[in-house]
Amino acid sequence: MPNQQLLSNLKTYFGFDAFREYQQEIITAMLGQKDVLAVLPTGSGKSLCYQLPAILTPGTAIVVSPLIALMEDQVQSLLAMGISATFLNSQVSFADQRHIQENLSDYQLLYVAPERLMMPSFLDYLDQQKISLFVIDEAHCISQWGHAFRPEYRQLSILRSRFPNHPISAFTATATERVRHDIVEQLNLKNPFQLTGSFDRDNLSIHILPRENGRDQLLNFLKAHQGVSGIVYAATRDSVDKWHELLKSQGFLVGKYHAGLSDNERRKAQEAFLKDDILIMVATIAFGMGVHKPDVRLIIHMDLPKSFEGYYQEIGRAGRDGLPSECLLLYGTQDYLLQKRFHSQIEDVAIKMNLIRSLEQFFAFCFSTECRRKEMLHYFGENYPKENCGNCDNCLNDAIAEDATIIAQKILSCIYRMQQRFGLNLVIDVLSGSDTQAIRNNQFEKLSTYGLLKEHSKLEIRHYIFSLINQNYAHITEGDYPILKLTENAKKVLRSEETVSIRRRIIKPGKTTKTKASNQALPKESIDLFAKLKVLRKQLADEIGIAPYMIFHDKHLQHMALVKPKNETEFSQVQGVGEQKLKRFAKPFLNCIKS
Ligand code: ADP
Ligand code: ZN
Repeated sequence: MPNQQLLSNLKTYFGFDAFREYQQEIITAMLGQKDVLAVLPTGSGKSLCYQLPAILTPGTAIVVSPLIALMEDQVQSLLAMGISATFLNSQVSFADQRHIQENLSDYQLLYVAPERLMMPSFLDYLDQQKISLFVIDEAHCISQWGHAFRPEYRQLSILRSRFPNHPISAFTATATERVRHDIVEQLNLKNPFQLTGSFDRDNLSIHILPRENGRDQLLNFLKAHQGVSGIVYAATRDSVDKWHELLKSQGFLVGKYHAGLSDNERRKAQEAFLKDDILIMVATIAFGMGVHKPDVRLIIHMDLPKSFEGYYQEIGRAGRDGLPSECLLLYGTQDYLLQKRFHSQIEDVAIKMNLIRSLEQFFAFCFSTECRRKEMLHYFGENYPKENCGNCDNCLNDAIAEDATIIAQKILSCIYRMQQRFGLNLVIDVLSGSDTQAIRNNQFEKLSTYGLLKEHSKLEIRHYIFSLINQNYAHITEGDYPILKLTENAKKVLRSEETVSIRRRIIKPGKTTKTKASNQALPKESIDLFAKLKVLRKQLADEIGIAPYMIFHDKHLQHMALVKPKNETEFSQVQGVGEQKLKRFAKPFLNCIKS
């Protein structure tokens, strides 16, 4: 299909003027009946990549999706754009299911759960229908190396032999080579068009700080960012309850979500969040995969995430619309140990080790003073070309490099004297001169290095050790009992042949961290109009019973507030205004702008 025609379809259905990077290539491949594997970060616009081909190809596209909430969200958004779509899942009444199945050709997209799709009777049914293409969303669920393996996804491997003449495309935000490989193999993709985008999300501002007084840090942060949507992640149900109570008592519009609540409570909480009836959701990581709310502005981790991959996924839920959004993580040693204990209970050794390694790397990352982006992208195998991203705590706050050769020598020789046979925590205890059973048992109080760093806090000692690990003077072994060992380079430091410098952030007392201004330059009168348009959007959404963002995104309302369209023609030129939305919403918004 010629470029011009694709663009005009993009505007008609979605209201967008241009494709994002990669979208057009993927869409062209899909329209050319090719199998596709697209690995793109959250918020990059993957859904549109398969929705547009689904609209433009005769027949119904079958979209496999892991979560009911996700299906509902997508279908409602499509309906709001005038695209006929529906879903089949356990929530749909028997009569409705029958109706849908009898009229499948009325729908351009059908969302189904994998276990439903693979039911023999359903496959037989599909044989009789005109299917355009198969799409596997969240395709990493197929791989046990992903962070969200779902056994039901494994069954999808027979799809190819069952429908050899239909293209299959897979979409995921999980980047690792292993997972990608698994997806192609399991789905038996034929010479697929593969595309992996950059994993940098430059609109996310990343801040990672030691947790001092979690309560004040949380409240200060939320008070500095009032009136926007955010998710507060906590590691356990108890801490979800605790933070939820606190925020409620402070008058925030807050809800909570964890596996201990009933299905109904969870559904209600999620819906309230999508509809902006509550702004802050306190949740375990059970919350989020199905949430495609584009205007989540804050992600706060009160505890460490499970792994690097998990962290990336979780912060990825902020700022899908591309507007500036803030991510704050508060870490403490306690949660590191807690997570590690969780991981060590996993039976499958390979999965266990994988998770432990990822957690350890993540913890080291917390202590790092390098650019967060650079390190994170490096972890995912991508090279970040800039030295300073200007949008993370380490790049925004001043850091000084201190000569830490003496401290490094103390630490390294302590590891050496403990015969490189013990873990991180015991080394820290010895250096700080603690009196513990393990120290007495091993008579470490007699070592010359015992208590050598007692004027430093344990947190500081940990920071130094992780800096040494990052600079390749020491490493932590893999295995059930990770041990702190020296590397070859350590010898040079011990023999005073090499100096060591360690970067330290200077955070002025009372200030947590600098952040980039998140309100982008809208002129004053547009800011007021934007606020009014938001109120109108919420009213209209409540009348229809959908989420406000399904009418227009914040970004589009901002554009509207900036250009102030005076008539329908001008209104149709606003970003996000497609044919359907022009018909339905031009009038109320134009009236609001006029007044
Ligand atoms: P993903 O599935 O990759 O996480 P989504 O499909 O949810 O991302 O898209 C993220 C947001 O970007 C959505 O709100 C979507 O409407 C918007 N979007 C997608 N493509 C475009 C485009 N070409 N122009 C403007 N906005 C877009
Ligand atoms: Zn940076």
